[in-house]
Amino acid sequence: MAASMASQAVARGLRGASAKYLFLDKFKCARVSSRRWLNLQEYQSKKLMQESGVTVQRFYVADNPPDALQAAKRLNAKEIVLKAQILAGGRGKGVFSSGLKGGVHLTKDPSVVGELASKMLGYSLTTKQTPKEGVEVKTVMVAEALDITRETYFAILMDRACNGPVMVGSPQGGMDIEEVADKSPELIFKEVIDIFEGVRDDQALRMAANLGFKGPLKRQAADQIMRLYDLFLKVDATQVEVNPLGETPEGQVVCFDAKISFDDNAEFRQKAVFALDDMSESDPTETEAAKWDLKYIGLDGNIACFVNGAGLAMATCDIIDLHGGKPANFLDLGGGVKEKQVYEAFKLLTADPKVEAILVNIFGGIVNCAIIANGITKACRELELKVPLVVRLEGTNVQEAKRILSESGLPIVAANDLDDAAKKAVAAITRK
Ligand code: ADP
Ligand code: MG
Repeated sequence: MAASMASQAVARGLRGASAKYLFLDKFKCARVSSRRWLNLQEYQSKKLMQESGVTVQRFYVADNPPDALQAAKRLNAKEIVLKAQILAGGRGKGVFSSGLKGGVHLTKDPSVVGELASKMLGYSLTTKQTPKEGVEVKTVMVAEALDITRETYFAILMDRACNGPVMVGSPQGGMDIEEVADKSPELIFKEVIDIFEGVRDDQALRMAANLGFKGPLKRQAADQIMRLYDLFLKVDATQVEVNPLGETPEGQVVCFDAKISFDDNAEFRQKAVFALDDMSESDPTETEAAKWDLKYIGLDGNIACFVNGAGLAMATCDIIDLHGGKPANFLDLGGGVKEKQVYEAFKLLTADPKVEAILVNIFGGIVNCAIIANGITKACRELELKVPLVVRLEGTNVQEAKRILSESGLPIVAANDLDDAAKKAVAAITRK
């Protein structure tokens, strides 16, 4: 049970990468990281693909039904596909809160696109990869539809176990890829890329053959694979996923869907890409926390945690759980904490109506406990804290910190160690 709390926090931090972990899982290339990579919408990823010479169909984007209708007419295509833009996958089989079924609609009649878009825009779309309540659709993509004779799956991702990039593909791509990975793992092919050498021609051709491309299509698919790898490197991606990478009756290999995740450590040299992040699908509290360099993940319980260090934060969540309580969040203040951050962190925690007690657990290694103590007393006074506060401080300058807290006259419950702190926090709630 204890471990499950910690893994829940970590798993939530990894949201948006389900397809990647599905495959990593299959190849036993497990990876644990609390980092959440930047994800872009399909249309943004496709623009980047176009710039790298990858074949995608013509498209426009719209944020209101009349514009969607106009775009459909302007495309002047035999068939049109209207696609809701949310970061989660599985849209094809998703359902809107308007009652409309399917986040991807094909039609030969452009005049119905406005009406269809009006049942998508402003409504939530729930798919296998979204939370139950779904994600609000703010943009739709209006694209030229093409007949697809075959749908394959192709992705390139960074894989720690292989110390670099790996190509993953399946001849049976499309909307049931999760099932293929689950039931027919022999249909998932993997090709490890040497980071110094890049994708070799024979590797690209072998992958193309494994994906089932035959005759001249094999060469064409291999070229698309090489271009996707160039893009992967150029934009510092952690994942480029194309599902489906399809084949048309006219003999074209086309990327029909696109999902790219980016390495946050490369933000300094990928300014144009990171500027595309509209944050619209991020949790507002998590976004606010990130502004102050705080790692925050909301959880379902009622005991707020205020901790420095991800490991300690996980341990705190687990010990609360062991004592029968439920953490309201995972919050890692990080190393060089400033008083202002302490204040902002308290502001975030107390703004959460679920919070009935706050547990501070600080181990002052790099951080000076007195800075934390001053931050806490300032925040308690200014925010007029109304819930019980249990504080456990240990490490650098702890005596001074304890003096600051006890002389503050604030109703702070001091704890001797983490176990004691968790016990007191749970008791504070039970007493209420
Ligand atoms: P998701 O993965 O979120 O379900 P996709 O973009 O993969 O969304 O679309 C779902 C399905 O819709 C695809 O597997 C494909 O069959 C079909 N589709 C998507 N784009 C096109 C297109 N441009 N032309 C024809 N069919 C398409
Ligand atoms: Mg898809």
